[in-house]
Amino acid sequence: MSARILSGTVIRDQIYAELAQEIAELKSIGVRPGLAAVLVGDDPASKIYVRSKIAACEQLGLGNVHLTPPANTTTAELLAIVRELNSRDDVDGILVQLPLPPQIEAKKILEAVDPAKDVDGFHPINIGRLVEERPTMVACTPLGVMEILRRSKIPVEGADAVVIGRSNIVGKPMALLLMHADATVTVCHSKTRDLRKFTREADILIAAAGRPALVVPEDVRPGATVIDVGTTRITDPRQAEKIFAHNPERLEKFRKNGSAVVGDVHPDVARVAGALTPVPGGVGPLTIAMLMSNTVKAARLRRGQRTPEAVTSSR
Ligand code: NAD
Repeated sequence: MSARILSGTVIRDQIYAELAQEIAELKSIGVRPGLAAVLVGDDPASKIYVRSKIAACEQLGLGNVHLTPPANTTTAELLAIVRELNSRDDVDGILVQLPLPPQIEAKKILEAVDPAKDVDGFHPINIGRLVEERPTMVACTPLGVMEILRRSKIPVEGADAVVIGRSNIVGKPMALLLMHADATVTVCHSKTRDLRKFTREADILIAAAGRPALVVPEDVRPGATVIDVGTTRITDPRQAEKIFAHNPERLEKFRKNGSAVVGDVHPDVARVAGALTPVPGGVGPLTIAMLMSNTVKAARLRRGQRTPEAVTSSR
């Protein structure tokens, strides 16, 4: 048996086609949704993430503002930047790329973003609304996972879902969204005593631990849907040999590049799972697609418009 591969890039393209239509409609009434991305310092991974978010805005014709204050920016200076963006009418969504340098009080910054422009869904008000299952801005990665499940027709209602990871930006909102979609949800984490005991029971297994190839075939119930959120760049050849043992092409590519991006799920899980998202090309593209979707949603809501349910609901 070989798992059905759930391609994030295909689903992203469907979402972009739908968004393009919405954006054209907004344009016809003189509205161009805009996203502001703030990147403090020059962390190489963050630079790549922000660049791809700006590229997505350009592809869809969204307005975009890209601010790059230096690494030694203070909390007060960054607060001033956020407040300015809050007041700008051409900015519908604000994202402050994490992680922030250590001298900046990240919580203060995230709380300063206008909740109506909080397209990352990190503001405590929006998290509270999500807990209460009220309409809100929801974190992009878990929202993207729900889109993968929905558009791939994976039944969620009544399913046993296991989430590995309990972070504020992935694990917790993921568990809430699955619960709201009527799954029975178990959240595992670094202190879980016997991870396999839980993962083997899952109809839907979401891995968001940031531990390369943590989930191996023995951890997965045959036929289960496995969603791999993890993305880690590995450079250790021995680790690569283990992960790509049955994947000579990727091992060859690793040797050529000296590194590879891998997920939390060992690729051999494809032999056991019923459906599996690849890394790269699985959840990653959906995260950016949902950021675009949240920006369009924010633009509509700020102008008192309703939003189409499909890609914007927290359910
Ligand atoms: P995090 O480090 O904040 O949280 C990791 C969580 O995993 C913690 O709750 C921890 O308890 C749990 N964990 C760690 N080791 C574990 C283990 N051995 N067994 C069980 N649980 C364990 O990370 P995060 O921000 O939630 O991100 C998780 C992963 O998802 C990372 O690899 C990150 O790069 C990736 N990510 C990908 C996207 C995307 O768009 N594809 C977006 C966000 C995060």
